[in-house]
Amino acid sequence: MLTPSDQTELRSMTPDMLREAIAPLGMPRFRAAQIFDWLHQKGAARFDEMTNLSKAQRTALAERFWIAPCEIAKKQISAPDGTVKYLFRLHDGETVEGVVMRYRYGNSMCVSTQVGCRMGCRFCASGQHGLVRNLLPGEILGQLASARRDLGESISRVVLMGMGEPLENYDNVLRFLRLVSHPEGFNIGQRRLSLSTCGLTPQIKRLQGEGLGLTLSVSLHAPNDKIRNALMPVNRAYPMQTLLRVCADYASATSRRISFEYALFDGCNDSDACAKELGARLGKLLCHVNLIPANPVEALGFRRSKPERIKAFAQLLGQQGISVTVRRSLGGEIGAACGQLRQSNR
Ligand code: SAH
Repeated sequence: MLTPSDQTELRSMTPDMLREAIAPLGMPRFRAAQIFDWLHQKGAARFDEMTNLSKAQRTALAERFWIAPCEIAKKQISAPDGTVKYLFRLHDGETVEGVVMRYRYGNSMCVSTQVGCRMGCRFCASGQHGLVRNLLPGEILGQLASARRDLGESISRVVLMGMGEPLENYDNVLRFLRLVSHPEGFNIGQRRLSLSTCGLTPQIKRLQGEGLGLTLSVSLHAPNDKIRNALMPVNRAYPMQTLLRVCADYASATSRRISFEYALFDGCNDSDACAKELGARLGKLLCHVNLIPANPVEALGFRRSKPERIKAFAQLLGQQGISVTVRRSLGGEIGAACGQLRQSNR
């Protein structure tokens, strides 16, 4: 039996890597393209599905490589909005969640990048038990492949906003981004990809140099270090002044506006003074602010701000010339909304 290793997982490989990997098996180059097609376009989960390869070739592949499974262990559908939450089981029994949101313009999927999370944001369920492990590129893709097969519908946008901190799993996430936008694969244009980070500034700088067209979202949630330190331990390592400077550099170098996520917690970060301070600090930065009515996470003790408060906060930002929207929250009652992933599946 082959022991699954990161280097032998087939869905994680680019076409070039695949060609190189199968060369020692004496397979012609065009086989690599066929295998890539099976794994990406057709979403194959097993070698015996690859019917245009001979039995001997499939056996030879199975002896050296593996395809990371991403089995649907549970599926929940939210009645009001059609949001689908999946619990995926991986090869080692660990589980991650992925959420498909139905919009008029098409399906958008929120995928996980790690099992658990090390960042410890006080209001988020995903990190309450720490980090278990990084996902392989093929496991991030596997969530899309499994959901698309299950729904029989295409997925046109992907957001890396599920469990985990994508920039902590940098190399695998980068490979995923290249794979998912590959014309022979899922072919999701980079403009339709978003990556959300809690604000790891060295990695944001590194990302700036990758020449990607994706949208960078930064989870801000506070107008100053005092509040942000209390909510997000990561702020002690990378305080707001550094973070905002790196974001400004990113926006001017890429000409892409940064999307700041700001979840409103009752009595914590939602006052008029907070809105004014935030507006002043964002100033002329090329950005957009997404206000998120906070989602309740049992046991964490945060409450959602009142609708009037959310409205007033948005108005104050708008008056300061900041582009702002209030995000519609989907999938709340199946625990699929932001920060609710992995509450009940441990
Ligand atoms: N680690 C990355 C990716 C996770 S994205 C990041 O922090 O950006 C998940 C988004 O949901 C983040 O913006 C996160 O701050 C937000 N979130 C977490 N808990 C939440 C809650 N209870 N209510 C609303 N949003 C929440």
